Amino acid sequence: MGKLVNLEKDFVNNMFSVKGKVALVTGATGALGKTMAKAYGYAGAKVMLTGRNAGKLQALVDEFKAEDIECSFVTGDPAQVADVENIVAKTVETYGEINILAIAHGFNKPQNILEQSVEDWEYIINADCKSVYIVLKYVAQQMVKQLNGAENVPTGQGGKIVVVTSQRSKRGMAGYTGYCASKGGADIMIASMACDLSAKYGININAICPTVFRSELTEWMFDVNSEVYKNFLKREPIGRLAEPYDFVGYTLFLSSDASNFITGAACDCSGGYLVC
Ligand code: NDP
Repeated sequence: MGKLVNLEKDFVNNMFSVKGKVALVTGATGALGKTMAKAYGYAGAKVMLTGRNAGKLQALVDEFKAEDIECSFVTGDPAQVADVENIVAKTVETYGEINILAIAHGFNKPQNILEQSVEDWEYIINADCKSVYIVLKYVAQQMVKQLNGAENVPTGQGGKIVVVTSQRSKRGMAGYTGYCASKGGADIMIASMACDLSAKYGININAICPTVFRSELTEWMFDVNSEVYKNFLKREPIGRLAEPYDFVGYTLFLSSDASNFITGAACDCSGGYLVC
């Protein structure tokens, strides 16, 4: 019989800490990616920002550094293996290791299946699902390398991975065959990766699944007098649409020791969208 492990005060006091960790964030120039990256920075992590646009990334680094956040950037397309290998190499060269990965890039171009070309559908699948696989694979390989051959590592000690998918991973929507397939694919891929990585290498990997939150693309939905907004609220028990900062709690929770027993999960953060 195993011995009951006592709860330690130090654990409780530090369980949400990411201080000193190295966090790599994809889609860092997006509404949520930037918010997640800033949250890591404010919490004392070293942050590597990545995306495809060097100008936007440089502006972000300038903004973050003005707030004393330790950060740097590397450009790359998450759907290209060579780019991702370079992102991993540059992060390790800059900060020595990768402890946390947040995947927050994404793309959609809604189109009815009857009008959509196979190429357009495939582009979405590559941007939202294949790219997630590639980034996860190469970052996980780096996390495992950092263990120097150790196996059966306590969960959480090998690394923490948070992937932004969507509530659209759970249900369909008109014009969303590429997006829903990608997000649903990412959720079940993450569950499988947890089986590959968690017990042996101590890596926790989870998805967060938001409904609509404010970004450049969704800003138009936030007019409280519009029919779109009013209709959406009929399915939102929480009574409003989300802001990117609404996901900071989950971000830090799933990146810290507080979530050591959680892996392979697709976490609801929908304001109750699923309950009514
Ligand atoms: P934004 O539209 O604000 O930013 C998207 C980010 O992804 C940018 O950093 C962009 O960087 C990158 N990106 C855009 N197109 C591609 C592409 N084809 N390939 C690779 N990277 C690309 O995104 P949000 O912050 O709104 O969304 C973040 C995540 O949350 C996404 O996965 C999205 O699907 C998901 N989501 C969003 C919701 C919302 O209401 N906004 C709701 C539910 C889920 P760059 O172009 O510089 O590479």
